[in-house]
Amino acid sequence: MNHFKTLLVSSIFMAGMSGAAMAGDSAASAKVLIEKAKTSTLGWSIVQSLTTEVGPRLAGSAAEERARDWAVKKLADLGFANVHVEPFEMEGWQRGSIALNVGDPYPQRLVATALGGSIGTPVGGITAPVVRFESLQDLRDAKIGSLKGKIAFIDSKMTRTQRGSGYGQAVQKRSAGPSIAAERGALALLIRSAGTDYQRNAHTGGLRYDDKQPRIPAAALSNNDADQLGRLLALKSDLPLSLSMSSKRIGKVMSGNVIGDIVGSEYPDEIVLLGAHLDSWDEGTGAIDDGTGVAIITAAAKLVSMHAQPKRTIRVVFFGAEEPGLIGARAYVKKHKDELDKIIMVSESDFGSGRIWRMDTGIAKADEAKADAILRVLAPLGVLPGARMASGGSDVSALSAAGTPAITMGQNGWEYFDLHHTPNDTLDKIDPDDLAQNIAVYAAFALMVANTEGGFHPPEKPASEE
Ligand SMILES: [Zn+2]
Repeated sequence: MNHFKTLLVSSIFMAGMSGAAMAGDSAASAKVLIEKAKTSTLGWSIVQSLTTEVGPRLAGSAAEERARDWAVKKLADLGFANVHVEPFEMEGWQRGSIALNVGDPYPQRLVATALGGSIGTPVGGITAPVVRFESLQDLRDAKIGSLKGKIAFIDSKMTRTQRGSGYGQAVQKRSAGPSIAAERGALALLIRSAGTDYQRNAHTGGLRYDDKQPRIPAAALSNNDADQLGRLLALKSDLPLSLSMSSKRIGKVMSGNVIGDIVGSEYPDEIVLLGAHLDSWDEGTGAIDDGTGVAIITAAAKLVSMHAQPKRTIRVVFFGAEEPGLIGARAYVKKHKDELDKIIMVSESDFGSGRIWRMDTGIAKADEAKADAILRVLAPLGVLPGARMASGGSDVSALSAAGTPAITMGQNGWEYFDLHHTPNDTLDKIDPDDLAQNIAVYAAFALMVANTEGGFHPPEKPASEE
């Protein structure tokens, strides 16, 4: 069927829906949807419900299972179709307790938190002199075996930026640092938190042990306490620290992804996939990471369905076990590997509730004009054109890497890493107006993508992380 006939047939079928097949009308319809979304409180009610009724939901825990039950009920109550859980296995972990104390002549307690996945110390803890490194590279440059009997401390600071681009570098000391320290003989690793606040909160987050190295305990210090330790080490260079942690890895546990669909009217097997992650770290209530994402995509899809049935299916996926390393995302790709060509777009909300200010595209060159048409509708909400390269976001980057088209809605992340992975990640940090702006953007975006003639196609080169 040629393009003209498609339009004609669509118009006949859609008579009474004011010829929504035509781009101009589609834009007009999306603009009406935006006005509705701006005043809707649905998103707020979703994130309040999740963070209050479930609270923290560590990957693989009973709390994350309760979150899946919550999600299934919430999606069913909202009228989503095909609501179900896709379970998968993962290695579980318990945080336990932590105590970090400075020895004589300056005895005092420092604020620290275990890194996710870390083993604990032996009972009674580890007492050893600490060696400070200004950066992960400086630790790498230390000789193999040179840290025998010592605790290593990486003190590099994270740079605050609107896009959160300081995190990519900061996170390396957290994920790779423990095994690099172990290879050099260290008994344990401390890092300055990958975070930008001075609220005396340590930022947790996952580590990744290298199987070739011994596993050592690893923890993050708050920025305030990293400063303090630096001053103490300037007074006494071989200062002893005592670290006691009861964290442990607990073997195989279950997690799962939760799925719900707004079924399309014309091409129900073609999918616009909106992602967020359901798990959170356990210290806050996972409001900005990633309760807001769950609320944004769910409210957006629901508001679309109340406005007009989309032509393609809009699917929400709440990924499980994002924080320990995109485990749910990989399970989704594996389970759906034969249907990936039916996914015409992926986009994930996983960067708090800061306003969306740019749109990055990971699509075929030939589809850029279609994306530009969407951007014109989003422009009054403050959205600017971004890069012509996008992964779509955290979990869905596993899908775009496997060849799906992707668009990333870039949020203002200036304050995100003040709260990220801390006890301070709670509901009160969310600005309702900013949340509504995100929902308006996603709703209009999802509707327009679902109704775009010819759909979207993957970029000529596979997407890479932005
Ligand atoms: Zn997240």
